[in-house]
Amino acid sequence: MISTDMIESVRYKLYSRKNIDQIPQLENLPKELLVGIKTVSTVLPFRVNNYVVDQLIDWDNIPDDPIYQLTFPQPDMLEKQHFEKMHNLLKNNASKENIHSAARKIQMDMNPHPAGQMDLNVPEESGKTFNGMQHKYNETVLFFPTQGQTCHAYCTYCFRWAQFIGLESIKFASSNTNALVDYLQNHPEVTDVLFTGGDPLFMQAKILRRYIEPLIKARPGNLTTIRIGTKVPAYWPYRFLTDNDADDLMRLFEEVVGSGLHLSIMSHFSHSRELETPVVEAAVKRILNTGSVVRCQAPLVRHVNDDPAIWIKMWKTQVKLGAIPYYMFVARNTGSKEYFKISLARAFNIFAEAYKQISGLCRTVRGPSMSANPGKVMICGITELNSEKVFVLKFIQGRNTDWTNQIFFARYDEKACWLNDLKPAFGKENFFFI
Ligand SMILES: *Cc1c(COP(=O)(O)O)cnc(C)c1O
Ligand code: SF4
Repeated sequence: MISTDMIESVRYKLYSRKNIDQIPQLENLPKELLVGIKTVSTVLPFRVNNYVVDQLIDWDNIPDDPIYQLTFPQPDMLEKQHFEKMHNLLKNNASKENIHSAARKIQMDMNPHPAGQMDLNVPEESGKTFNGMQHKYNETVLFFPTQGQTCHAYCTYCFRWAQFIGLESIKFASSNTNALVDYLQNHPEVTDVLFTGGDPLFMQAKILRRYIEPLIKARPGNLTTIRIGTKVPAYWPYRFLTDNDADDLMRLFEEVVGSGLHLSIMSHFSHSRELETPVVEAAVKRILNTGSVVRCQAPLVRHVNDDPAIWIKMWKTQVKLGAIPYYMFVARNTGSKEYFKISLARAFNIFAEAYKQISGLCRTVRGPSMSANPGKVMICGITELNSEKVFVLKFIQGRNTDWTNQIFFARYDEKACWLNDLKPAFGKENFFFI
């Protein structure tokens, strides 16, 4: 068993587009791969650190390595014409402004805010909008703390990528904790606050405390649970062990739990390898020692984790470490969706294949689930009913609470990748929730 004091501290080193040439491992890569990274990262955000580069990526397996695919932009992530355009601008030493404005055009083409996030989820009361907050499902309010809108590395499939490219006008962020407390006071149906981003654990412990302490003190409304959505256990586990304020962070977790609130660290793990270093093992152990719970979730993505064996290993390792498998998502229809997308049929088959080979303790996981406009829709099965091949679907969350747990059927379509690709089964005109 790994113990915390066996972990040696490592200095954080950040790599981005500006200093990419300092990544030692890139020296041996074919030149066209480097050109590809530099070109695509004019459009899509790129950022990685020395832990991911030195301990997670297998540099003998480039470009196929899943963690390399997860963090390094790939040429095919842009449409060919877009890639050519940016490539030519770079080759001809175009001005910063020209590169920037060409990149903006392409970004706006890539569905930066999927599933009605901007229009439908931001709460409004007496003419006031609560920026940096989303309230879609009754019980849970999302809060986007201003200083937590960045990550220790950027996932190439990120559906929040618009947050990282300076699209300020459409960025969610708030540092107004009073507004959150007031909102919870007025909304007794809310039991959970989910701090999200970006990555709230990117913040210094003392900043995070400014957001969390008012909730501990005021205990507004019927709040019982604080969740923190984070990729830090996967991308920078030293955060919980040897970083300067690691002890402060652990104390804050203990205070939340000590106050009687439930604290759930919603950890994003995309691949079993992210759970296999001694550092992550020690990090999870230390988080659990504070009395908080670690729940795990990730999207199913081509090139990264589209293989049942990866999920089997991931869920088994999570349970072994004391973490709880929670969600498998269908990759969102944003950003480089063509590069990552997996048909719903294949997603279901990967899930089903993995699900049958794990113990009941791993089967707390639910999926594959689409976080779509009307709600979270899970693919429960593919079957034949009234001699029609259908998808069996279920709302596990609904924009309308009454939809929760409702089963519905869609005509089987081998190519469908998202809810809006589907047609109702049995010749019906519309789905019941339209
Ligand atoms: C997934 C999600 C939640 C949390 O849903 P749970 O099923 O309770 O985990 C809350 N708000 C939004 C917008 C979500 O997508
Ligand atoms: S950790 Fe989450 S928010 Fe950050 S880049 Fe990855 S998917 Fe996006």
